Amino acid sequence: MRMVIAIKRLLIACLFAILAHECPAADSPGQRSILVLEDADFRSPFYSEIFAGIRTAAKENGQIHTVIYGESLDLARFPGPDYEESLVGHLKTKYAHRPIDIIVSIGVASAKFLQARKHDIWPAAPVVYGFVPDLPETRALFLPGTTAIFAKVSPAQILTAARAVVPDLTGVVLVGDAWKNPLIYGHWKQEFATTMPGLEIIDLSGMVLREVRERVGSLPPRSAILTSAMYSDGEGTHYLPAAALARVAERANRPIIITSDTFLGRTGVGGFLLLPETIGQEAGQLAMRILGGESPSNIPPVAGDNVKPIFDWRQLKLWNVDEAHLPPGSEVRFREPSFWEQYYWRVMISAGVVLVQAMMIGILLRERRLRFQAEVEARQRMSELAHMNRLATAGEMSATIAHELSQPLAAILINAETAEQVLQTPAPDLGVISEILSDIRRDDKRANEIVVQVRSFLKRARTERIELDLNATVSDVFRFLSIQALTYDVALATDRSSLDIRVTADKVQLQQAILNLVMNAIEAVADLPEDRRRIVGRTSLANNQAMISIADAGDGICTEKVTEIFKPFFTTKTQGMGIGLSITRTIIEAHGGRIWAENAPTGGAVFHISLPLAVARS
Ligand code: ADP
Repeated sequence: MRMVIAIKRLLIACLFAILAHECPAADSPGQRSILVLEDADFRSPFYSEIFAGIRTAAKENGQIHTVIYGESLDLARFPGPDYEESLVGHLKTKYAHRPIDIIVSIGVASAKFLQARKHDIWPAAPVVYGFVPDLPETRALFLPGTTAIFAKVSPAQILTAARAVVPDLTGVVLVGDAWKNPLIYGHWKQEFATTMPGLEIIDLSGMVLREVRERVGSLPPRSAILTSAMYSDGEGTHYLPAAALARVAERANRPIIITSDTFLGRTGVGGFLLLPETIGQEAGQLAMRILGGESPSNIPPVAGDNVKPIFDWRQLKLWNVDEAHLPPGSEVRFREPSFWEQYYWRVMISAGVVLVQAMMIGILLRERRLRFQAEVEARQRMSELAHMNRLATAGEMSATIAHELSQPLAAILINAETAEQVLQTPAPDLGVISEILSDIRRDDKRANEIVVQVRSFLKRARTERIELDLNATVSDVFRFLSIQALTYDVALATDRSSLDIRVTADKVQLQQAILNLVMNAIEAVADLPEDRRRIVGRTSLANNQAMISIADAGDGICTEKVTEIFKPFFTTKTQGMGIGLSITRTIIEAHGGRIWAENAPTGGAVFHISLPLAVARS
């Protein structure tokens, strides 16, 4: 069988040699080539990330056009001198016409292979060793004219991670066949013992996977599983390390501490993890420096910065690990965003909307309060103005009132004198005395009525809106002003609606408004001939509104002034104050009504007031 493979390889090599002779080499003169040599499979995530890192480093150095070749030696799965021999032949043939400018060797097995066989295949190519631990044994593998970048997770780091996850750690369980590799992990057990004396070590490395799965299900409570890559088990079955570890994790009753970035997210809690892409980049950067002209002998092997404490947030939750216990500088991945992180913008926008709304509500409430205050103040002022207006009216009416009072008082005096005379007669007629006394009482009552009316008119009453009978209100005002009308010999008449019209109003203010209109009307006709000295007060219902109209037969209002007359201090009278109509309008509008003036077609001014009904009629 081996013979057949060798013959086939030889044939392929011959074919390549012939073709190579025929065809020009693909590599152009200015181009450099890197060969990445590693023992494991490039298709496994760890090694493919290393390869990607080398490629990135080559790309970053744009000055040198670089072609990268990759070879998986696969010596772990195919051990033995025959295979190795055939492999050398194969590589020699394959690269016969592909000059290799530098070799990047990944892992210890590859370093070993190069130590033994490089001279046969690529005698002149410099080497950069990557992904090797810094141990005397590994350094001994390095050929002359080479350099290296080390990568290693130290036992102390592994135990630090294990104690962060299990603070009361008393034992560790080793899983994975790489623990058996003397070059990589040879000193670990001793180092563990030195770092943590008394630490119990359960060694399951090299055990068949089935057994490992059984054992990890019942591990002691204060232990942690420490893993190295599992490529094959004691029965010679080969695995992809991440897949093997996932199967172990299915059964494990203890947290698993891992050592590679590529195991995170599937099985392990985390730990100090090798970062394969960084390992590749670091090795690649060294290779590019050498391709750029530096001598490898001048670059001493150096430790890379390719290990970082990284943990899986979900696993930390699962094993109740306090993040505060993690090693300093730890990165926590797969963190599920908190409600706040998840809905940050939505929450912010909603809060913003609520805030704006609250502000708007606040502003509106303030506006409302200010408006309410303003209304109260306006009402106050209006009631004060109305009071002043009434005082002024009373002043105007004082002569009339005095005259009106003097009549019953004079009658009382005459009657009293008459009674005295009757009483001085020898036989006073008690019937006459009784009549006189009843006249005196009637006149006194009349005088008292006048006083009561004047007092009620002048008093500063509190604003109070009640339901009023419109007909009665108009009649009251007309009755009160009848004395004034008599003085000026003006006829007052009312034309009241037959309907029961009710409005909600302040009685004193509404009376005041009507009274102002009637007083103006009296003044408008006072000096006119008798047939024009008449005033009519009407009540009616129009368009679901209560209506009051005061019409006179005076000279009317100049058409351009029909609105101006309602402005404060507008007057055409020498003794006028010009506030009567303005107060009247303020009162009516404060009651939700309207006032306007017009000239009647038959002559004279008509003032109309419309007010909302107390109960709107349908
Ligand atoms: P004043 O009576 O002190 O002038 P008002 O505000 O009561 O103040 O009236 C303003 C003006 O409106 C009067 O000066 C007058 O020119 C006009 N006016 C009011 N009522 C009538 C009316 N019935 N006929 C004609 N003009 C009127």
